[in-house]
Amino acid sequence: MVKMQKRVFLTKEDQANYPFLKEATNFVENFGVNLRELSIEDYPSIIPRATQWIQDNIEGNMFTTNIKDPDSDILAYPLALAFLFGLKKEWVINRFATSEQKRIKTLLLNENPEHIIEIAKSGFGWDLESININQEEAKFQFSISVANYLEIAPQFHSAEWKLINRYVDKGKVYLRNLEYARLLSGAAENKIKKRAMEEEVRKFELPEKFKPYLINITKIIEQKKDIYDEETPLIWVEEAKPPCVIAMLNDIESGKNLSHMARFTISTFMLNVGKKVEDVLELFSRVPDFDEGKTRYQIEHIAGEIGSKQKYKMPKCDVLRSFGLCVGPDALCEEVWYPLIYYRKKIEEMKKRPSPVPQEQSEELKKVRKRLQKNV
Ligand code: SF4
Repeated sequence: MVKMQKRVFLTKEDQANYPFLKEATNFVENFGVNLRELSIEDYPSIIPRATQWIQDNIEGNMFTTNIKDPDSDILAYPLALAFLFGLKKEWVINRFATSEQKRIKTLLLNENPEHIIEIAKSGFGWDLESININQEEAKFQFSISVANYLEIAPQFHSAEWKLINRYVDKGKVYLRNLEYARLLSGAAENKIKKRAMEEEVRKFELPEKFKPYLINITKIIEQKKDIYDEETPLIWVEEAKPPCVIAMLNDIESGKNLSHMARFTISTFMLNVGKKVEDVLELFSRVPDFDEGKTRYQIEHIAGEIGSKQKYKMPKCDVLRSFGLCVGPDALCEEVWYPLIYYRKKIEEMKKRPSPVPQEQSEELKKVRKRLQKNV
């Protein structure tokens, strides 16, 4: 049964909580703040709130908007983005966007259906409809057009988001339980990442006068870069391999032929976590169509030893997903956009596991711990 929708109005607090809302954007535009004119003397609360927003998101803490002064937070958000884009670090932008996704998802889970519908409409132009339908043992709360659904769902890891696995009726996809929050927060995350890719943003240079306000953030970035920065070298830790890599290595072990993309992925993974060309070559010697000369040439090319002399990066999760190489993701996969970040986070988790290692545990694990301690 489709319910009549009751229209609600989005408050200033909503705009601060959900800075992607049309109303928030209009407020910022009408305020006419210009980065070149903005100084901390004129707006004492905006700059600290913008830096706090970035700091919380990088550190994985949930940024809390100030309900007593929502105007400052509405204005702080575009400034936080300007700072973020001015830092020119892709992993920092990704980290910020992922933390925003989590923050927004948490907030949405406490909203009533009318509010959620209005947020979807204002933020993304989506026509979410409140429904309460029990079908095939599932309870559906909202429906959304297939077109809107496909703007975001294909980037999610698990198979349940595939359109083929969804209940669809008259051009509408039915959303179970809390799925609306994942979809909307995913759209907010995408908005930040897409904006970061725009030519104008890529060329953006932060005015010098703001740089002193970023000193603290720069220090935090330095501390966190071991986990998130794709450029930071890694060590080989057997137990930290992401599920996609384990699946590809299992395919090699069982003598299957791998696609070009799978071979490229395994090669870039190994070469980026400290393995040598010879190690990768030895691994591929197990595939049925192994040709030593050709394989060596390709691996050396990927390692940056010949050709362009640039080491190739490992493909990101969304690329692997589009090639059908993201298999059976686990809980940690939900937090990452890049398999090497999965790997780094897993290593961090391992460092926190209780020590000493009991006698009966594997020698391999002991070696890993020793190596990790040396590398801390
Ligand atoms: S989500 Fe990323 S890390 Fe996890 S299995 Fe898929 S591609 Fe690999």
